[in-house]
Amino acid sequence: MIELSDKIWELAELGLIEFSSSKLLADELEKHGFKVERGIAGMPTAFVAAWGETKPVLGIMGEYDALPGLSQRREPRKTPVEPGKPGHGCGHNIHGTSGMAAAIAVKMAMEKYGLKGTVRFYGCPAEENFSGKVFMVRDGYFDDVDAALSHHPGSMNAATLKSCLAVSSAKFSFYGKASHAGGSPDQGRSALDAVELMNVGVNFLREHVIQDARIHYIVEKGGEQPNIVPAYARSWYYIRAPERDQLEYIYNWVLDIAKGAATMTRTELKHELIGGLHNLVPNRTIAELVVRNMREIGPPEWSDQEREFAEEIAKSITPEMKIEELRKSKRPGWEKLVDKLIDDEIPDPWGGGEVSHGSTDVGDVSWQTPTVEFTTATWVLGTPGHSWQGVAQSGVGLGHKSLIFAAKVMAGTAIDLLMGEDLIEKAKKEHGQRIGKREYRPPISVGVNPPLDIWSKPGE
Ligand SMILES: [Zn+2]
Repeated sequence: MIELSDKIWELAELGLIEFSSSKLLADELEKHGFKVERGIAGMPTAFVAAWGETKPVLGIMGEYDALPGLSQRREPRKTPVEPGKPGHGCGHNIHGTSGMAAAIAVKMAMEKYGLKGTVRFYGCPAEENFSGKVFMVRDGYFDDVDAALSHHPGSMNAATLKSCLAVSSAKFSFYGKASHAGGSPDQGRSALDAVELMNVGVNFLREHVIQDARIHYIVEKGGEQPNIVPAYARSWYYIRAPERDQLEYIYNWVLDIAKGAATMTRTELKHELIGGLHNLVPNRTIAELVVRNMREIGPPEWSDQEREFAEEIAKSITPEMKIEELRKSKRPGWEKLVDKLIDDEIPDPWGGGEVSHGSTDVGDVSWQTPTVEFTTATWVLGTPGHSWQGVAQSGVGLGHKSLIFAAKVMAGTAIDLLMGEDLIEKAKKEHGQRIGKREYRPPISVGVNPPLDIWSKPGE
């Protein structure tokens, strides 16, 4: 398992092109007797591996995509393997492998003890950019799942009750008219002006959106060279909010601003909604079960060498950074962790009614079936997400032990769920109460497909 995780760490493949990483996991599952269906939901790197045919159906999810620009050696200081290349800054090499290991362990236990049910591993591509699970949910791959589990490396051993933000991802293209910027600017219509004015408008909008909303953008295309009035320019926006109706309200306002920018500059606007996610529906029943299993198994013990590595990493994290990361967690008694290197406690689930300000496509799964994504302490306390520190720690002993711990916790939880139908019923009842009258609508329309050519597509 550790070897597989390390291989995926070294491959560091980006979302939708994780060909070798997904193959490693799928092949391993096949070797262990799982029936593997590859290339599902329109993505060559998505797959589902199943063992068993009866109810209940337990889903375990795994991710394996890396992040651009985060190349990093297995060293406790910032040293890229190759500057600019991808790295596993979110530890998805562990995410995929811990889930796969758990699925295999569950299958072995089911065989040995004659447990009824089905265990499925979902190989989920592109969590970081194009939300593979949203397409898998839309195409019905989670329809009959009775409960779903997922593990994410982190700096705490935790199964929280927090939600996270729903998101819409959209591109705004403006079409103007090229002309000589010195000789005949009066003949030109600048698409870049429109992009800039839209951004200015959105930045003024910030004061008037709800506290938990997030809006961020980049300019993807801003012209060719300064002496040509840019005929084409494009920005890429993420808009986030706790609930999809709040998000849609803000999205429509941003769209109005974009239209205003086009009117102001006499350019034309085309907008394209390229992706979207739901907020997470927490589940106390399963979260408590995860915590119970964590306590039964016990957190890993770190060797002197691992502690030394952790101490070196900790030197690159300022006390201010650490305190903010801990405060943000809202974990009861977080102040006690300020002087701690690695989290070795297992707190009760916390954070009911709270929202964390990231997003994940696990959210869309959590609208279909009771779902929990828990974390295990893989990184020293205070490690920021998507950082070189995250990459380094995910590829060494700290990551390895956390991976094995997480796999055991997930397997234990899955077996508890399979053995006690009343637990699944309880989790489902809670799920129904939490969803209430809200209805799940896929955040992407039927015609939208995963952008498979994204890494090879030249700019317009
Ligand atoms: Zn992640």
